[in-house]
Amino acid sequence: MNAGVDPVVLPSAGSDSSEDSSASSGADVDGPLAVADTPLSAAQEPVPVSERDLRFMALAQAAADEARAAGEVPVGAVLVHGDEVIAKGFNHPIGGHDPSAHAEMAALRAAAQKLENYRLPGCELYVTLEPCLMCAGAIMHARIARVVFGARDPKTGACGSVVDAFANPQLNHHTTVTGGVLEDECGAALRSFFAERRRAAREARAAAGASPQNTPDPAASAANPDIPPTL
Ligand SMILES: [Zn+2]
Repeated sequence: MNAGVDPVVLPSAGSDSSEDSSASSGADVDGPLAVADTPLSAAQEPVPVSERDLRFMALAQAAADEARAAGEVPVGAVLVHGDEVIAKGFNHPIGGHDPSAHAEMAALRAAAQKLENYRLPGCELYVTLEPCLMCAGAIMHARIARVVFGARDPKTGACGSVVDAFANPQLNHHTTVTGGVLEDECGAALRSFFAERRRAAREARAAAGASPQNTPDPAASAANPDIPPTL
């Protein structure tokens, strides 16, 4: 419903914050990030996490913090070659008026510009949220060697959660995928972001609802397009 504004979608289930756990009980809660116990594809099965992966994912988390500071859904990415960080990117479709401005796309663009090469063989992309189909396509076009993602995205994830673009040998010859690195931490950043947005929306509604008629305030939704009106 919030397509066009929020590539990641979702507010999450009540487990993230005590404040929400009582307010929203399950069924009506749009909480994909909390649904981590869905069947996993091979690419998603837990694997031992290396210190190196943790280190670079931490940098992707820092990039996600930049998105959050800009009022964007907090997703961040870094593009790595060997032990060198070539580029970073953060999600900014709202501020950029650009539906393609996902963190992965930003990192890929920056790296390609820096290396003056539209292909980035041998590079690894670390991103805090499972890439969507658009980003999976760009990752394949760039011939990225490996993608490492944090939280899974059961709504738009293209690494096994919704579809597994990388599992199709007709599409992908270059990229391996490792999922779930710092999954809880990456997911928590998103959950807290949406919890904060929902809280702000509730407060806006409450302020508007102080008037005699406690009617829904369309302005509240309009001002917060990321937030499903049911939340
Ligand atoms: Zn994407």
